[in-house]
Amino acid sequence: MTKAIGIDLGTTYSVAAIIEDGRAKVVENAEGEKLTPSVFAVTTRGHRLVGSVAKRQGATNPERTVTSIKREMGTDHRVSVNGRSYSPQEISAFILRKIKKDVENYLGEAVEKAVITVPAYFNDGQRQATREAGIMAGLNVMRIINEPTAASLAYGLDRESIQTILVWDLGGGTFDVSILELGDGMFHVKAVSGNTSLGGDDWDGRLVGYFADKISDEEGLDIRLDPVSLERLREASEKAKRELSYKTSTRISLPFIKTGNGESRNLEAAIDRGTFEDITADLREKLLGPTKQALTDAKLTVQKIDRVVLVGGSTRMPSVRDLVEETFNKKPFTKINPDEVVGIGAAVQAGVLMGEIDDVVLVDVTPLSLGIESEGGLFAKIIPRNSTIPTSAGQIFTNAEDDQTVMDFHVLQGEREMSMDNISLGQFQLTDIPPLPRGKAQVEVTFQIDVNGIVKVSAEELYTEVKTGIRIDASHLLSDDQVEQVLREAEANAEEDIKRRDEAEINIRADSMIRAAELVMEEKEGKLSGPYKHRIERAILNLKEALSEDESEVIRERTGELKSVISEQ
Ligand code: AMP
Repeated sequence: MTKAIGIDLGTTYSVAAIIEDGRAKVVENAEGEKLTPSVFAVTTRGHRLVGSVAKRQGATNPERTVTSIKREMGTDHRVSVNGRSYSPQEISAFILRKIKKDVENYLGEAVEKAVITVPAYFNDGQRQATREAGIMAGLNVMRIINEPTAASLAYGLDRESIQTILVWDLGGGTFDVSILELGDGMFHVKAVSGNTSLGGDDWDGRLVGYFADKISDEEGLDIRLDPVSLERLREASEKAKRELSYKTSTRISLPFIKTGNGESRNLEAAIDRGTFEDITADLREKLLGPTKQALTDAKLTVQKIDRVVLVGGSTRMPSVRDLVEETFNKKPFTKINPDEVVGIGAAVQAGVLMGEIDDVVLVDVTPLSLGIESEGGLFAKIIPRNSTIPTSAGQIFTNAEDDQTVMDFHVLQGEREMSMDNISLGQFQLTDIPPLPRGKAQVEVTFQIDVNGIVKVSAEELYTEVKTGIRIDASHLLSDDQVEQVLREAEANAEEDIKRRDEAEINIRADSMIRAAELVMEEKEGKLSGPYKHRIERAILNLKEALSEDESEVIRERTGELKSVISEQ
């Protein structure tokens, strides 16, 4: 049967999803990513680029790079790129054409039909422009649907007997509130409100200010004066913000920051979640105004809201979720990835229109991360939690010992940093690995989860292609309460876990340094001067001693000492 694509044509990112085996699935683009940057560019040589390749070159080619074209849809605005003028529809069509092609490559067949989402506040002109963009891209646009409606469809809320749904959509640069009412199996938009200049970028800005002030106080250096350093601080702050969504503290590290007098310095700064929440309290407060406005416009009170659905990457912040609970006195719907939920809903609508699904559509996600135990007892996550299934992912591992012909694999699920704290799902062994020096074998571990939630884990040595694996059945599935419990424990232990992970990594680095030093001595046997050889031996001995006493700081110091002795040769 031919397929139809559900497309979330977003301001910063777009998402494509289809129905496969009765379930909605986000399709990865040609670059292997689920989110395609909504960016178009033309190179100096006249080549057109779309998606992450266009985004990546944006900083060095800003005048030929177009971002956020969605903000111009339905206007007469023209964008001039490399001497040619484009309408917003044309730019959007380039993005849609890439999405169409990537889905066709995935399916191995042509796809023409699509459902595209737009914000609930888009007027007729903006909707018409979106439809035109689809047609220009060679798509038959079956329907244009509202983003909050798509999010509600993804959660199957059209099949519940509830009445009123409120959707909070907090992305990178905008905040939208929509109130929908369900009647005759259809969603009606009762009210929309929002703030077009409130989003994750503002939270990033607060962190930039906090870190810049801290660095200025402690180091006497104003990082804001140098545009390159400031951009690096901005990127580090955005990453720190994401980490604070699942860790209670984090730190940024900015090596080789220019000081202005020709020197460079390595800067570090830490922040805990409490401080982050304090310095952004007023931004959260700003979410309430448009919410009240939408309720007033819909002539509703908070008590009349049956469900709250969260959309947009910034709703991952725990403080935003807490605010929903405080305001509406109920837990928000968050199970589906907030940046994929609109695309998934569009696919559900497309599936209904194509007759691919009737009443039950399942959007299943992995409730906990899956992975294997790696060196030093660490947990290597391979499939992150909340990935929509079916899904697959892999990672390459290597031999920890010289001439190791057997590798043991321990498959686990959970959110803790160390394997021993996660839930064991099974173990298997890969034998007949060719004997190779440590770090030279290439073993690819692949996880595959099928539509029924069955997990298959395989390990393959890439040179000889010897392969083995296990199948884990669904009896390991946890109840919602058990999953909650695991997540709570992970959060409560986050700080201690990160300390343990850091310690394990310090030990791994120390071991590798000892091996490297021993190798140097072996290879240069007879060529090293007596006193130098003696210094290496002393440094190795000192490090081994520290390892046996398990003193992380001392191990770190002595690894550094051994490294500097070795680098003298
Ligand atoms: P969207 O436009 O919906 O893709 O949202 C993008 C915004 O979500 C950006 O500001 C991101 O920094 C933010 N974001 C993504 N993941 C997280 C996270 N785990 N915690 C906090 N913010 C996030």
